[in-house]
Amino acid sequence: MALIEKYSTYIFGIDLGTSNSAIAVYHKGRAEILKVDDGRYTLPSVVSVLDVETTLVGKQARSRMLVDPNNTVASIKREIGKLGEDGKPWNKEFPNRPERSYSATDISAFILTKLVMGAQQSSMDILQGTPRYAVICIPANFDDNQKNATIDAAKLAGLEVVSLIEEPVAAAIAYALEKDRDQTILIYDLGGGTFDVSLLRVDSTGEGLASFKILGKEGVQKLGGDDFDLEIMKIASAKFQESSEIDIFDLKKDQGGGVSPKALREAQQKLKEKAEIAKCELSQSQKALIEIPSLLKDGDGKVHNLEIEIDRSEFNDAIRPLLLQSKEAVERAIAAAKLTIEDISRIILVGGSTRVPLVREMLTEMFGKEPYSDIDPDTVVAAGAASFAATLSVPDDPDVQPQLDSSLVIDNLVTLNLGIEVRDRRFNLIIAKGLEIPADVPLSMSKEYSTQRDNQTEIRITVYQSSDTKEFIYEEGVTCIGEFLITKIPPKPKGAEKITITFELDQQNLLKVKAESSSGVGGALEIKRS
Ligand code: ADP
Ligand code: MG
Repeated sequence: MALIEKYSTYIFGIDLGTSNSAIAVYHKGRAEILKVDDGRYTLPSVVSVLDVETTLVGKQARSRMLVDPNNTVASIKREIGKLGEDGKPWNKEFPNRPERSYSATDISAFILTKLVMGAQQSSMDILQGTPRYAVICIPANFDDNQKNATIDAAKLAGLEVVSLIEEPVAAAIAYALEKDRDQTILIYDLGGGTFDVSLLRVDSTGEGLASFKILGKEGVQKLGGDDFDLEIMKIASAKFQESSEIDIFDLKKDQGGGVSPKALREAQQKLKEKAEIAKCELSQSQKALIEIPSLLKDGDGKVHNLEIEIDRSEFNDAIRPLLLQSKEAVERAIAAAKLTIEDISRIILVGGSTRVPLVREMLTEMFGKEPYSDIDPDTVVAAGAASFAATLSVPDDPDVQPQLDSSLVIDNLVTLNLGIEVRDRRFNLIIAKGLEIPADVPLSMSKEYSTQRDNQTEIRITVYQSSDTKEFIYEEGVTCIGEFLITKIPPKPKGAEKITITFELDQQNLLKVKAESSSGVGGALEIKRS
């Protein structure tokens, strides 16, 4: 007899973060974060392959980063749906499991699977079945490929994505559902590796309905807690060098009677772990101690210990220039939305790195008021996604697509410039970044083109995106997102055949491209998957 798996009727809210992930469900009138990793509410987004059968995910995997870096992967969100510098998607073989290789989507699926299983183990009484439907959070600047790869990862983990939601919108929902709604709010999200700032307008539209409109977004691609850790490592290493005359960061120079690069690399990793702990301690206290017995052995066999103290003002001085970058991004976002500091009613802190006191001090000084702190920066995104998920409905029949009807209206902006390649390798814009996508219908824009040569029977349409305005498709920052071929165009003189290209962008910022020619042949975009 075949068994049928019982699915939970909840739609889960999932924050699939670069450093940490979380899962929540809206239950008994509030978003509840579910325990996932041995009693903890957040799961480090780290995967470590132990042997042919065992894959560790979370805290256990994280502690293997030092011991077994070749079989351990962190920050996979940076790679998902992207091509590396070599033009190929990220792909990894683990020495502990040589028979196959893994894509960034596969690694993300491991994290999602662990979230789901962890939630099931800790909260079966609430879930009443295996999680199946999910709302997954994505950064505001994720492109088509990154979104589709995220959806694929969810599928591999046995989940169906009812909707994607941008992280700042999720945070705004978590905040605004409990508070006075009619406000202009600023979401300041400083995580492990990236900084994002978003401005949102929240309006109540009557009877439990609210609308969320993104007024602007900005960010710094590489700015976060990892950089703060590095600053602490630099301070510690300088102090260590004073006593030992060994520079931990210099792998090339022969130092201390011949310290091997391997020993130095191990020392760096040990220091990285301790630096992060010290950083978190400095969020609470004025001083932190870093002690690493036998940090390394020099060429003469002498063992060097590290024992240094670092105080908060020293740390603040080191990270101030970094925080200034976030401040500038905040200013750019406010200016681009044609707002002023006075228009912002609330500053909402998101991400573990907003626990750093200097972040709060800087924002208080900048806005003349304290950021809102009555909310957990580590789990607010998952909570908001769960609250949004609760406004969507799932069908009784698991084979039917869930409905995207919601009492929460999210007006969105186009996140990237979208266009095609035309003559002389020019980037021809069809939908511009910053345009508003209406809440109920996709944004659709068309342009007409014509054949370039006499008797041209085929045209290749290549679709590109870029975050800034670009003239040529070969410029830096321009990415190809797909292409298709129109064939069987009847031979005619050059320019006689007209081709209309239509770009359609839905609420999730997902793109569809259609082409139609005056003689009736056409085509549609097939997304080149990476
Ligand atoms: P992401 O969104 O990238 O997954 P998180 O929001 O989970 O990241 O933030 C992770 C970062 O927050 C890490 O760099 C971590 O060290 C930092 N962090 C967590 N707690 C604290 C704390 N108490 N003080 C300072 N930094 C912290
Ligand atoms: Mg985050």
